[in-house]
Amino acid sequence: MALAPMMQHYLQTKEKYKDCIVFYRLGDFYEMFFDDAIKASKILDLTLTGRDCGLEERAPMCGVPFHSADTYISKLVQCGEKVAICEQLTEPSANTRQLVQRDVVKVISAGTFTNSELIDARTNNFLGSVYVKNGKVAFAWADITTGEFFVRNFTGENSMSELLDVLVRVSPVEIISNSRAEEMFREAPLVVHGIIPKFFAFTESEFSVTSAKKSLETQFNVLSLSSFGIENIEEAICASGALIAYFKENQRHALKNINSIKNENASDIMMLDVNAIRNLELVKTLRDNKTYGSLLWLLDKTKTSMGARKLQSWILSPLNDISQINYRLDGVEALYNNTLVRHTLTNSLGGIRDISRLAGRISNGNLSPRDCIALKNSLELIPNIKFQLLGISSAFIEDILQNLGDFSDTVKLLDNAIDNDAPANVKDGGYIKEGYNAELDELRNYSQNSRNCIAQIENSEREKTGIKTLKISYNRVFGYYIEVTNSFKDKVPFHYIRRQTLTNAERYITEELKEIEDKLLSSNERLLKLETQLYSEIKDYLTSQIDKLKVVAEAISNLDVLLSLAIVAKENGYFRPIVENSNCKLDIVDGRHPVVEAISKQRFVPNDCLLDGKENRTMIITGPNMAGKSTYMRQVALITLLSHIGSFVPAKSACIPLTDKIFTRIGASDNLISDQSTFMVEMSEMATIINNATEKSLLILDEIGRGTSTFDGLSIAWAVVEHITQNIKAKTLFATHYHELTELEGILDGVKNYKVTVKELQGGIVFLRKIMRGGTNRSFGIEVAELAGVTKSVTERAKKILKKLEKSDITKNKVSDYNELETKATFSETEKIISELDINNISPMQAFNILSDLYEKVKSE
Ligand code: ADP
Repeated sequence: MALAPMMQHYLQTKEKYKDCIVFYRLGDFYEMFFDDAIKASKILDLTLTGRDCGLEERAPMCGVPFHSADTYISKLVQCGEKVAICEQLTEPSANTRQLVQRDVVKVISAGTFTNSELIDARTNNFLGSVYVKNGKVAFAWADITTGEFFVRNFTGENSMSELLDVLVRVSPVEIISNSRAEEMFREAPLVVHGIIPKFFAFTESEFSVTSAKKSLETQFNVLSLSSFGIENIEEAICASGALIAYFKENQRHALKNINSIKNENASDIMMLDVNAIRNLELVKTLRDNKTYGSLLWLLDKTKTSMGARKLQSWILSPLNDISQINYRLDGVEALYNNTLVRHTLTNSLGGIRDISRLAGRISNGNLSPRDCIALKNSLELIPNIKFQLLGISSAFIEDILQNLGDFSDTVKLLDNAIDNDAPANVKDGGYIKEGYNAELDELRNYSQNSRNCIAQIENSEREKTGIKTLKISYNRVFGYYIEVTNSFKDKVPFHYIRRQTLTNAERYITEELKEIEDKLLSSNERLLKLETQLYSEIKDYLTSQIDKLKVVAEAISNLDVLLSLAIVAKENGYFRPIVENSNCKLDIVDGRHPVVEAISKQRFVPNDCLLDGKENRTMIITGPNMAGKSTYMRQVALITLLSHIGSFVPAKSACIPLTDKIFTRIGASDNLISDQSTFMVEMSEMATIINNATEKSLLILDEIGRGTSTFDGLSIAWAVVEHITQNIKAKTLFATHYHELTELEGILDGVKNYKVTVKELQGGIVFLRKIMRGGTNRSFGIEVAELAGVTKSVTERAKKILKKLEKSDITKNKVSDYNELETKATFSETEKIISELDINNISPMQAFNILSDLYEKVKSE
C-alpha cells in the first residue's frame, strides 16, 4: 500500500520542521498527525482520532478549528513547543482533482507568538539570544509585540554569573543561542529547574559577524551600526543579528516595529543579582512566587499595561547616575504636588490602550478593525493629556509633552473609515464606515437592493403561482433557489428548472433569479475585495506611523510610571530622597518597610539607619527571632533601591549615596537554583559577595554561618565581618545570633552594634521593633518557640537545659551531662581550660577573647 499524496506532502513538510508541531490546514481545521497528534492531544486535551492515509493503519490525528487556533498555539508554546503553520495556498477546486498546494507560512514559538490578546499584558514577551565564543559573551533580547530590542555584552572573569543575573532579570520566554552556549547551559541548574528556558541552538552561521551585521543593517535600514554604539562589539552584533534572523526565519515578514537597538551598558544601571531580585521580593514573593506582596505589587498603580511593563523594568534596572535619578524624581515630585492633575491624568490614562502592542500588531499584520477603534480612542485622548501637563514644570514631563505627537490625521482617518461597531475579524467585511468610499457605498446599496429585489421576486412568484408557501433561500451549492412543498408541486410553472428533490419539497431555479444572483454575487465579491483593499490602504498608512506610535507609547508609559509613583508616594506618606555621590553617608530617618507596612495590620514602627562609610560601616544587629531584623535590613535595601529608580521613599528623610550594587544573603535559601546544600549555597553566595562588593555597595547579610557547627559558623562570621569592614569597606548590615560578634565594636574600626528591642514580661516577651545602639546577649529563642505554639513541656525542658548550658562549656561536656552539672564542676572546668592553653602560641586577641569568656563564666555563677 502507498501513502496518499496529501500524506506524502505532509510527511515531507514534517521532515523539514522536525522540531515543530505541524498545524496542517485542511479546510476549516488545522490537523495534526502521528506523533504530533499524540503529543498535542495530551497538551491540548483534544480527542485523538484517526485518518485513512493509504496505509493499513490509520494515522493518529487531532485538529483545531482555524479561527480559534491561536488559543491552542498559545498553550503549546507556553509548554515550550514550536508550531509550524502549514497553510493552503490554493483554493480547493471541486472540478479538478489537483492537490491543494500547501506550505509552511510561519513558525510560532513562545518568543515569536504575536497574538497580544493571549500573552500577559503587564509583562514583556522577550526572546533572548545568547552568544558565547572564546570568552566573549553577549545577550540580546527583543519583544516582537512591542519592538523593544536590547543587547548587553559581558567582559571580565564574572561574565557568566553576570549573564545569569541578566537572564533572570529579563526572564525571556524563549532563548536561542549558538551551539557553544547551548552546550554550556544544557545542565545549568537555572535551566534544569525551569527558572530560565532551555537554550535552542539556532543556525550557527547566523551568529557569524558578517551575517549578523548584515541582518541588523538590513533590519534598521542603515549602512553602519555606529549610531547604536555596538559597531565595535562583535559579540553584541552576533547575538542581536542572530535574533533578528530567527524572527525573520519564523515570522517571514519585515518586523517594521523593530527599528533600533539599545546597548545596555553595565555602568548605566545598578547591578542586582539573582539573590537580590529574589530576596528583596522585587517582582515576586519568595514564598509563593506571586506578584501580590512584592515591591512591584505595591508600586503598581499604573493605568496602562505599557506603564506596568515600564515600571517593572525600572524596578529591575535601578539607575546609576544622579542626574538621571533626579530627572525622574523631579517628574514624580511635580505630579506629587499637583493633586488635580493626578486625578485628571488618572482618568485620561485609564482610557488609553496598549499603543505599543497595537503598533506591534500593525507591524505583525494582525491588526483587526477593533484594534483600529482602540487605537483611535487612545490617540484621541492625547490632546487632553497634553493640556493637563502644560503647567507642570519638570524636565521629564516637558520631554514627555514633546513626545506626545499630533495624531489628528490618524484619528480623523480611523474615525472616518472604521465602523465603531466593527466585527472582530475582517473575513465577512462590514467594518468600513458608510460615507468613507463612494464606490463601496454604491456596491453596498446595490447589494442591499438586490436582496430586496429577491424578496420582491418571492412575493410576485407567490402571487403569480398561487403557492402561498413558496420561499426563496440560499445555499452554497445552488445559490438562490425557490422551494415549493410537495402539496403545491402541480402549481409549479414550466419555466422553473428543478435542481433538487427533498422528501417533502422540490427546489427550483429560474433564469431571472440566476441573473440577479450573478450580479449580486459578483457585487458582493467586489464589495469584499474593495473593503479589503481600503483596509489595506489604511494599514499601510498606519505602518508609516509606527515610529511615531512607538514614541508616543514610550512617552505615555513613562508618564504612567511617574504618575503611579506619585500616587503611591502620596497615599503612603513617602518623601523625596536625596541621592548623593558614593562617598556620602546613608542616613535614613524613620524608615519603614514599604510592603510590610502596607500588608501588616499592626502599626509599623519606623527606624533610623546611619552608615557613613567611616566609623559606621558595619552594623552588627542582634535581637530575638521575629524581632524585626530581616524586615529592618530589607527596608534599608528597599529604600536605597527605590531612591535609585527615582521613587519617593517610606521615610521622614533619606540621604542615599549612589550605590553600585546591592547584595543580599538572607536566610536558608532554597536550593532550587543551585543544586547545592544549604550551607554550600550560603558560602558560595558569600564568596560572590566578597569577590564583587565594593566600597560603593550595600550588603545585607542575615545569619551568616548558621548552616554549620556553632564554632565553625562563628569563626566564619567573625572573619567575614573583619574582611568586609577592613578591606571591602562596603556599607553592611549584618544580623546575627552570634552575640560574640558584638565584641567587635571597639576592636574593629567601623563596626557598631545595634539591637532590636524587646520587653520581657511575665516570662514572655513583647516585640518593641525599635532598633537601638548596643548588643544583646540573649536570643529569646525559647520564648519565640512558645509564641509559635511549641508544647509547654518542651519549652520548659528547653529552659532548664539552657540554664545548665549557660553555666557550662559546651565544648567539653555532653548535653546529657548537664543534668548533673554542679557549680563546682564549672570551676574545675575553668581551671582545666587555663591549664590546657598553649600560652606561647596564642595571639593577644585570642588571649583577650579567652579571658573575656572566662570572666563572663565566672561572673555568671
Ligand atoms: P527577624 O528577622 O528578627 O526574625 P522579621 O524581620 O522577620 O524578624 O520580623 C518578623 C515580623 O515582625 C515581620 O513579619 C513583621 O510583620 C513584623 N515587623 C518587623 N519589623 C516591624 C516593625 N518595624 N514594625 C512593625 N512590625 C514589624
